[in-house]
Amino acid sequence: LADKLQGAFNKLKGKGKLSEKDVKTALREVKLALLEADVNFKVVKKFIKKIEERAVGHEVLTSLTPAQQVIKIVNEELTELMGGTQSKITFASNPPTIIMMAGLQGAGKTTTVGKLAKLLKSQGKNPLLVAADIYRPAAIKQLQVLGEKVEQPVFTMGDKQDPVDIAKAAISHAESNNNDVVIVDTAGRLHIDEALMDELKNVKKAVKPHEILLVVDSMTGQDAVNVAKNFDEALGIDGVVLTKLDGDARGGAALSISSVTGKPIKFGGFGEKLEDLRPFYPDRMASRILGMGDVLTLIEKAEAQFDEKKARELEEKLRKQEFTFEDFLDQMKQVRNMGPLDEILGMIPGVGKQLKGIQVDERELDKIEAIINSMTIEERRNPELIKGSRRRRIANGSGTTVQDVNRLLKQFQQTRKMMRQMGEMSKGLGSGKMKG
Ligand code: GDP
Ligand code: MG
Repeated sequence: LADKLQGAFNKLKGKGKLSEKDVKTALREVKLALLEADVNFKVVKKFIKKIEERAVGHEVLTSLTPAQQVIKIVNEELTELMGGTQSKITFASNPPTIIMMAGLQGAGKTTTVGKLAKLLKSQGKNPLLVAADIYRPAAIKQLQVLGEKVEQPVFTMGDKQDPVDIAKAAISHAESNNNDVVIVDTAGRLHIDEALMDELKNVKKAVKPHEILLVVDSMTGQDAVNVAKNFDEALGIDGVVLTKLDGDARGGAALSISSVTGKPIKFGGFGEKLEDLRPFYPDRMASRILGMGDVLTLIEKAEAQFDEKKARELEEKLRKQEFTFEDFLDQMKQVRNMGPLDEILGMIPGVGKQLKGIQVDERELDKIEAIINSMTIEERRNPELIKGSRRRRIANGSGTTVQDVNRLLKQFQQTRKMMRQMGEMSKGLGSGKMKG
């Protein structure tokens, strides 16, 4: 989908003004692309009409090119389609908060229980995991393994009890054991049937969950939308967890589900590992679908964090060849303020895919910060001063080794050299325009 849309937008590039015909042509391609991505036909139709009305209308922002304007509008409307803003879990004012998982077999319920427990734990909660899938004995074991990994308790009564009784007993257990969240894993079937719905309805009636999260597999495209619709009508859901977004077919389901059910996607599963569950941000998803990475988020972050004045000062220093460790530290802090580095890199269009799975070692950066922090102001300004005994002192002070300090000094000299060359280049051109 991303490539298709990108193609449609590329055709808009380089046009001075956007005519009604241009908008129509571009939107025809957007429409085809969305349909091909298995987005619900009615959703697409409504969507295109809305964009058309907005794009051909009066909204003309002077700061954008016509193509950017269409992209902006498409992006905004895609975001709106997926529920607009990020939706959070509702926690009970009187704990425990009861979260019930529902979904078809293989959608990712059990895995998501483990992931959610990890996420909530990191937010200071103490979740109890409840094994209420009695049809697949392996499911109980699976949950126990997950519980062990997250280091949170798993409540089970084996596979001989009724899920309703298990869920009820689990809540009493949580109350007497200080578990402020109860996450109930339930059974699934390959297809929706009455027996499954009845069982889920009974559990719902018995424990009155604060949150029923429907887990759906994004790889199943249009089917996922139907599943969501059916579950919502029969059981009533509060939100959706869209799993397997790390796979390829990621457009269709995300786009249609909230539009068809009116229920928000609250979390996205981006892999099999426990840390691969993230709050779902419709705006980020929209730009990802548009193939722009998280460009908009990135621009916003950059605007918020990057100080224009400092950038100019830095440029000045570059030209005068005065770049020091103080500036180095400053720069590093500014970039790090924008968020985890791998996330930032992933937002750059075209880079996201290649970087998938690559971990940026933030600890390396911590080390560098620590080393610079252990330098005196004098040393930061004149790195040439840093010789033998000073190196040892800095290493000791920062909890690193002399080798670490040497490596940083070497890197710094190289950076400086490179910057000097760049500084000379920009001087040569006489433009003085160098940013970031
Ligand atoms: P359940 O039957 O609904 O409980 O599904 P499971 O939790 O057992 O998951 C089924 C399979 O999907 C397992 O192999 C999981 O590892 C896998 N899975 C779940 N969520 C994700 C995800 O977000 N990404 C990927 N790639 N695999 C997932
Ligand atoms: Mg399961």
